Amino acid sequence: MNEQKEEKGRFAPSPTGRMHMGNVYAALMSWLDARRAGGKWVLRIEDLDPQRSRMEYARLLEDDLHWLGLDWDEGGIDGAGPNGPYCQSLRSDIYEHYYQRLAEMGLLYKCRCTRADIMASQAPHESDGRVVYSGRCRPGAEPPFTLTDGPGSTRLYVPDRQIEFVDETYGPQSVNLSEHCGDFVVRRADGAWAYQLAVVVDDALMDITRVVRGADLLLSTAQQLYIYELLGFPSPTFAHLPLVCNAAGQRLSKRDHSMSMEALRQRYTPAEVIGLAAHQAGLLPTPAPITPQQLVRINA
Ligand SMILES: [Zn+2]
Repeated sequence: MNEQKEEKGRFAPSPTGRMHMGNVYAALMSWLDARRAGGKWVLRIEDLDPQRSRMEYARLLEDDLHWLGLDWDEGGIDGAGPNGPYCQSLRSDIYEHYYQRLAEMGLLYKCRCTRADIMASQAPHESDGRVVYSGRCRPGAEPPFTLTDGPGSTRLYVPDRQIEFVDETYGPQSVNLSEHCGDFVVRRADGAWAYQLAVVVDDALMDITRVVRGADLLLSTAQQLYIYELLGFPSPTFAHLPLVCNAAGQRLSKRDHSMSMEALRQRYTPAEVIGLAAHQAGLLPTPAPITPQQLVRINA
């Protein structure tokens, strides 16, 4: 008999502003996915960027989730589990450990390029704003490389091959990292840990089995799966959410203050906000008030 694997989802917001409708939608969908699987839900605070993250926003985030009725089993600002705290700003030693593992594999090197250097040396690419790093600072043609001390960001070598995965929403995906992004940054020049490394280490050590998040992260999933493979972690399943738009078809943004939790809490009850989010997600035919617990019992 197989041992039953405990399902676990997570919500991993950055505390750089008040939650807005787009965050409510992402939180609700991840929470529902975990609860429908009979699993746990983790709240991780992604405060890696010291310039933009504020503890007051993390506190408001927790308060807004409580108000909405989206309860978490592990994590939060004061959460601590067997593999450390749940605020990324407190997990630097953990990231350092895995960074050193990648360095020992000879896959890391220092990059001293300015943004202008990178823009000048990259081949013209699709007009989606992505920057594909040319490998300008690679110390040799192929790894192993020696990671030197000194200034600069640290990049992870990527091979010229396809990374394949099946997204539960968007279906089979195939991404060649050398064409998609090139060698990518795992530690910034200012010492801050890059998202791609931190998110993989955290999801793996927090035993996350189901990642439900916005479609803006669909293509960076391949970068993360590459790190999962290098570090020998089992990878979770991924379901990316189509981005929620307003009535005018524009992506919901933090700049639309009518959609911030501050404004929503003045105008609506928690069940009304959940109803709006569920309707936008296509779970309800009308934006009728409903609790998260009631939604668990409705088939998607
Ligand atoms: Zn460089």
